[in-house]
Amino acid sequence: MTTCKSTKANLEAFLSSSAIQELKLQICDIGRRLWQREYVDGNAGNLVIKVGEDLAVCTPTLVSKGFMKPEDICLVDLKGNQLAGTRKITSEILMHLQIMRRQPRAAATCHCHPPYGTAFAVAGLEPPTGVLAEYELFSSVAMAPYRTPGTPELGKLVAELADTHNTILMANHGVVSWSHESLEDAYFKIEILEGYCRMLLAATQLGKPVNSLTPTQLVDLLKIKKSFGIPDPRHGLAESELRESGEWPKES
Ligand SMILES: [Zn+2]
Repeated sequence: MTTCKSTKANLEAFLSSSAIQELKLQICDIGRRLWQREYVDGNAGNLVIKVGEDLAVCTPTLVSKGFMKPEDICLVDLKGNQLAGTRKITSEILMHLQIMRRQPRAAATCHCHPPYGTAFAVAGLEPPTGVLAEYELFSSVAMAPYRTPGTPELGKLVAELADTHNTILMANHGVVSWSHESLEDAYFKIEILEGYCRMLLAATQLGKPVNSLTPTQLVDLLKIKKSFGIPDPRHGLAESELRESGEWPKES
């Protein structure tokens, strides 16, 4: 088995192996989708897939995520040391690896700056729960306070929230998601968040407060969510403890 202690030649060979080639193509594909959906501008965004107990493959720095080639992908250990690959890794990799170190179920992570989700992050407003069935089923969103991108302080705050949430908005920055299944599934969390934030903005223009799901309806959705293995801080709460989310947007 290849680990971070394997020889340099072994690590290079591992990064060029056919199993890893498949994952590199997945990273390039998801990068293209992030760019096409305008979730990343300039060189923004990063994608990481765990490939061993202490190894991960990741996107490099200073490259548009819409136009990566498989040979651009790098190999790192979970502490953030680059082990193989010709391009340089990004400082933002730390946050992904801190999630993976703390949360052993995290198979892949996705970070980007989608405009509607990031608008909520800039406003410091956590999207309300109890509004849309799909969002309740697949997403569990928290907000991390602002810290300088790429610092261990930000990674620590994000990783702690990843215990009970699969999507973490970062104030004045963007969003990072993780999945216990695949990179595509981590990317889906971003699509779901972004579609939801966009829908909320449209709903608030209809001149009427949005209707909430009832606690009984939420209990049903949370039961299904739990069976999917998706984290949620409300798992285990009784129906009486699930408060109505109340009117949204709230009167200020
Ligand atoms: Zn970023």
